[in-house]
Amino acid sequence: MDRPQASDRTTANNDSRTDLRCGTLVSCMDYESSLDRAMDEVPDIGGGQERLQIPDPQPQKDGAFTRFTNLGDVADTLSRESEHLHRFIQRELGTSGKLEDGRGRYNGTFTQTDFDAAIDAYVDEYVLCSECGLPDTRLVREDRTPMLRCDACGAFRPVTKRSTASQQQHQQEAVEEGKTYTVEITGTGRKGDGVAEKGEYTIFVPGADEGDVVEIYIKNISGNLAFARLA
Ligand SMILES: [Zn+2]
Repeated sequence: MDRPQASDRTTANNDSRTDLRCGTLVSCMDYESSLDRAMDEVPDIGGGQERLQIPDPQPQKDGAFTRFTNLGDVADTLSRESEHLHRFIQRELGTSGKLEDGRGRYNGTFTQTDFDAAIDAYVDEYVLCSECGLPDTRLVREDRTPMLRCDACGAFRPVTKRSTASQQQHQQEAVEEGKTYTVEITGTGRKGDGVAEKGEYTIFVPGADEGDVVEIYIKNISGNLAFARLA
């Protein structure tokens, strides 16, 4: 007989809170139930992402190519077509490739991290619901527009395309050894070197002064630090 008493007490609490905080019983109950729902959803979101256990991409170097040997498994885990994932990876890696028996083969050398990043981007764009964040979605087409239908929350909306501008910016922000870039010197290092920022990199340019716009040659990169000379 504990249970009815407990629920009586809950009701009583609600009522007293109604008196104190809520204008009406209805709005208070709404608040309570939506709060309950919000609380319920917190562990679900974590559970949802755990449920989506994407296998680690297994890259395999093959001469001038890199194979993504378990692309098919990854696509299966995401309930997406291998071909669709493959085409996305090509775009993300900025290369061409081929899909053979559930394995991708891409021109160039790519690491597990490269494939990981591409899969993450794919999941963001084509798998996770933009409303509730859960991966319980289906990719469907309506009038040739790719749509994500979420089985968890019922959301139904066009796939959220990341802007190509941000992709271009991402490429522009990459810094590679042995390449030249035009940068603006925006600071001065402790040793008097000019300092420029590009993407996540801090670039040191001896002989350049703050405010200069200079062409630089990247000599080497260490972590997020790049060391350059005037080109
Ligand atoms: Zn959803």
